[in-house]
Amino acid sequence: MPAEMEAGEHIFRSNLPDIDIPFTLNLAHYSLQNAHQYGDKPCLIDGPTGKTYSYSEVEVVSRRVAAGLVALGVGKGEIVCLLLPNTCEFALIFLGVALRGAVVTTANPFYTAGELANQIKAAGAKIIVTQSAWAGKVAGLGAKVLTTDAPPEGCESAGLLLEADESKFTPVDVDPESVVCLPYSSGTTGLPKGVMLTHKSLISSVAQQVDGDCPHLHLTTDDVMLCLLPMFHIYSLNSVMLCGLRAGAALLIMQKFEIESLLRLVEKYKITVAPVVPPIVLAISKSPIVEKYDLSSITRVMSGAAPLGKELEDALRLKLPQATVGQGYGMTEAGPVLAMSLAFSKEPKQMKSGSVGMVMRNAELKVVDPESGVSLPVGEAGEICIRGPQIMKGYFNNPEATANTIDKHGWLHTGDIGVVDSDGEIFIVDRVKEIIKFKGFQVPPAELEALLLAHPDVSDAAVVPKKDEAAGEVPVAFVVRKEGSEVTEQALKEYVAKEVVFYKKIHHVQFIDVVPKSASGKILRKELRSRV
Ligand code: ATP
Ligand code: MG
Repeated sequence: MPAEMEAGEHIFRSNLPDIDIPFTLNLAHYSLQNAHQYGDKPCLIDGPTGKTYSYSEVEVVSRRVAAGLVALGVGKGEIVCLLLPNTCEFALIFLGVALRGAVVTTANPFYTAGELANQIKAAGAKIIVTQSAWAGKVAGLGAKVLTTDAPPEGCESAGLLLEADESKFTPVDVDPESVVCLPYSSGTTGLPKGVMLTHKSLISSVAQQVDGDCPHLHLTTDDVMLCLLPMFHIYSLNSVMLCGLRAGAALLIMQKFEIESLLRLVEKYKITVAPVVPPIVLAISKSPIVEKYDLSSITRVMSGAAPLGKELEDALRLKLPQATVGQGYGMTEAGPVLAMSLAFSKEPKQMKSGSVGMVMRNAELKVVDPESGVSLPVGEAGEICIRGPQIMKGYFNNPEATANTIDKHGWLHTGDIGVVDSDGEIFIVDRVKEIIKFKGFQVPPAELEALLLAHPDVSDAAVVPKKDEAAGEVPVAFVVRKEGSEVTEQALKEYVAKEVVFYKKIHHVQFIDVVPKSASGKILRKELRSRV
């Protein structure tokens, strides 16, 4: 919807009507509220082994976990760290912890011992649930370590949770404003920050996506959702796991991205919904083996977490002509979903390529001038701000950072530059911090990356600033050539120069083997900046 003036501000809202959100429930009750209707329907399917939990089983096991936590002395509000790759146990223990009224913090198993120690100590986790392979990295942090496979010395079995006596669990009341999940942001711009998400925030975010008569993200019990993105990151945790459970879909869980096994599982399980990130879109779009598999079951592909240019989005459409392709836009602090393509809604609406969709229901979005803070009308680029019941309560133990991010009127400032068009569609330009300044002109690296990716000889690319005496900063590119290609620096510079205004020209191209990316799908530009 084009901006409405409210209290002198341009405010954008969804075209979909607001809905009633059951704020007062426990997140686990809310997520499994309809599980009894789904009964024996598959809920969690482990891709590699085929091991499956039905909805009824998930419901029972989550109560076992809650009972086991009580038996282990984990109190309300205490923290359990999940240090697990994508597995059924991740979902089961998450739900059990929520049911207990305790808090889950999630961490990346590939983090180093030092990185894990920082997060686990800062969060004050009482229990860590992991696999034996990672247990050594978290020994001696003062937390009890449980493993989902055979426990090594000094650890105990997660069977203490998963096989506890569910009859011993008595439901606990939770305050909707109490924290249930403490994910850490990706650490793209600095150290990862602990983000306090409450029962109310996550219920609101899931409801904004899948609840109501005309859900923004229309999932049904017939859907098989790909759960390949890391569940320790909020995108997969919320938009895949929690939304899938709420809607009664089956979650097909995969631990790591490898294109051939992905294509095989799509064919075998007839996956219908594929939430992905741009590096996966890139791999699918540029892979010659995609044609060998029957991917006709896929009806929706959603990309989020990092910029996806128009050209790449269109390239994916050509590979999967039967599927609706679109984007979502999220940020850990925003619960995380701010916007999503309405092409995924129950009454689908075509959205433009490159757009991240429309703001969610029951929320307000505005675009402000980063200097003056004044809200901007349709068509003008500025910092995106969001307000609604889904946003975080604040950063963990960091009131100062919280106050710098959520202003006194409740607006969360994203640090992303974007623009809303006259149809209410949102386009992300880039992060405020990533914008390259050439003699005061703004150069968004994401735009140049999208252009380079559209080149037939380029298999991946990243653009960063290089200090320059005359211009302040100039854009330089790191490029991964397609196998067998011998495209030159000069040719790529000329290709870009033909497409852009003079100040966006690439000044230097360095060929590399791989663009460093985070587990959540983001280019690690800070790593590249240090190589310039
Ligand atoms: P940190 O805040 O720790 O530096 P981070 O911001 O990368 O890390 P996340 O919360 O995982 O951590 O990512 C949120 C950011 O991801 C958004 O602020 C935005 O910059 C980017 N993003 C998410 N979805 C999209 C999208 N569809 N298009 C462009 N950018 C996106
Ligand atoms: Mg961030």
